[in-house]
Amino acid sequence: MTVVKTKRTSTGPKRSAAAAVGELSARREVITTAREMSRMGLSPGRSGNVSRRWKTGMLVTPSGMAYGALEPKDIVFVDGDGAFPPGQKKPSSEWRFHLAAYDMRPDMGAIVHTHSLHATVLACAHKAIPAFHYMVAAAGGNDIPLVPYATFGTEELSRHVARGLAHRNACLMSNHGQIAIGPTLQSALELAAEVEVLAEQYYKVLTLGIPVILPDSEMALMLEKFKAYGQKAQG
Ligand code: 13P
Ligand code: ZN
Repeated sequence: MTVVKTKRTSTGPKRSAAAAVGELSARREVITTAREMSRMGLSPGRSGNVSRRWKTGMLVTPSGMAYGALEPKDIVFVDGDGAFPPGQKKPSSEWRFHLAAYDMRPDMGAIVHTHSLHATVLACAHKAIPAFHYMVAAAGGNDIPLVPYATFGTEELSRHVARGLAHRNACLMSNHGQIAIGPTLQSALELAAEVEVLAEQYYKVLTLGIPVILPDSEMALMLEKFKAYGQKAQG
């Protein structure tokens, strides 16, 4: 139900100038993240997409454009009800699963979806990533789940993705790729990169035989330790 609607604004010239600067930097941040994702080799060709929450909806990469060519005006605003104001580029074909993920996770502010090599290899073999390494806890639990296949861009896929992200910050998507979420674009991108590293490690472990899986109690401890890891405030 894509409704095209016109935006009205009642803000004075001063406030709207400040809001425009804020929006420009938000658009630039989406582009920087998308380019970084591509530079890191996480999204072959034009695959993948990036978004961040913005006002009552989100700012998302346009469909099928080369990341190097993106300009701030190419980033698309999609409202929370799936409406996009006219005169913009076409949003990512995956705008539905971006909105569904934000609905499911009010605590999250950004999404990175990629077809990174090893995550996609596992997703095509329908293999979730179990707790073979303690870093799996970086995705928020004792595994990185795999959601069922559905055609890209569909409501069905968005329902699968929302379920996969209900209790995790990343999941694999059958015969497709991976998706990572975070409070910020930087954290979502870092998690997507971590998922790819874990996928490569797990793939290699599988070639040696049966992986050794850490017990749930150890993964619960990891989740606790991660809360205070690095330079996070103590307390
Ligand atoms: P878009 O270019 O439409 O975002 O599609 C890329 C993609 O990865 C689809 O799943
Ligand atoms: Zn995709």
